[in-house]
Amino acid sequence: PANKGDDAAIRATDSDAALARLSAVSKNYLSDPYIRHFVSRPQIQQPRPPLINIGTYVRSEGIDTLVDRWLDLAQEEGMQAQIVSLGAGSDTRFWRIAAGPRRDALRTYVELDFPENTMKKAMAIRKNKDLGAALGPVDKVSLTSGGTTLHSSVYHLLPADLRLHPAEVLTPLLSSPLPGASEPLLSPAHPTLLLFECVLVYMTSAASSALIQWFTDYFAERGVLGGLIYEMYGLEDQFGRVMKENLKARGISLPGVAPFTTFASVQSRFAGYGFTTSHAVTLRDLRRSYVTPAEQERISQLEMLDEIEELELVLEHYMIAWGIKLPQDKQTLKAKW
Ligand code: SAM
Repeated sequence: PANKGDDAAIRATDSDAALARLSAVSKNYLSDPYIRHFVSRPQIQQPRPPLINIGTYVRSEGIDTLVDRWLDLAQEEGMQAQIVSLGAGSDTRFWRIAAGPRRDALRTYVELDFPENTMKKAMAIRKNKDLGAALGPVDKVSLTSGGTTLHSSVYHLLPADLRLHPAEVLTPLLSSPLPGASEPLLSPAHPTLLLFECVLVYMTSAASSALIQWFTDYFAERGVLGGLIYEMYGLEDQFGRVMKENLKARGISLPGVAPFTTFASVQSRFAGYGFTTSHAVTLRDLRRSYVTPAEQERISQLEMLDEIEELELVLEHYMIAWGIKLPQDKQTLKAKW
């Protein structure tokens, strides 16, 4: 759909995300012992400015909180949850969950990305014993399709171009059982959360609609499906134009930008697919209202930041949106997420 140069630039945005996370970890905003394994030594740069570190921190805490709540919701229903991360890049969330108190709440964790990126990630996983150990029994771990696909008992890393027809790309990957299993890799019977963290902006809205529609159909009337989007918005104002120019300078044009210009349009991204709720919050409001005073105090002491106004202007351009789709007899669950 897009030209190859654009695709390479889109894939490379993952290194940016990983470096931003590594920076926030190195400055003690976040604790993540895994991210460094996904960044090669020559890539490591100077830490990011305080403003970016704070943004990374707020984003990460906000999404972690919602993911934890999803796992809790499933457990309260007596079920294990599934998570599908679309355009997962070097995300470390699976390893952080696997090392935490909610590890048993996970049935399946799927990551999808371009084959070049899944191959790189699979290699990093094979090279590091901490990452490998989290995958569980070794006899269940397999690396296939030229090193672009990794299966294990819970974690699955799969190559896909998410802009292509979902029935052709997702159906074969997700809807059939792995050899020796009876249930499909992604079971429609388990509460499942879709994570779109910084990825929809690289697709047209037609492509992302087709994706969301595929999952909606797959979970049909009986399934419990959640969706979470982290995205920039407001790219038409003065500040947003600067952000867009930055991306363009790196060879990235943004096909998805047009429909994603407003807070309301991101917030309502899952509306129209039978979702019961659509919540949204900006990183600015997350920082102000949800980060506890004790954490605010701790964060404020990590680095000098004199421009609170500029910080708020930046954080105001990023948002988290989430919603849930519930069968008729489970509507009360909407209060839990
Ligand atoms: N979700 C991760 C995070 O937030 O740290 C990575 C975000 S990174 C900015 C965007 C990721 O989406 C990249 O890894 C990129 O390769 C992936 N991506 C973008 N468009 C994609 C597509 N059409 N198919 C598969 N992956 C895609």
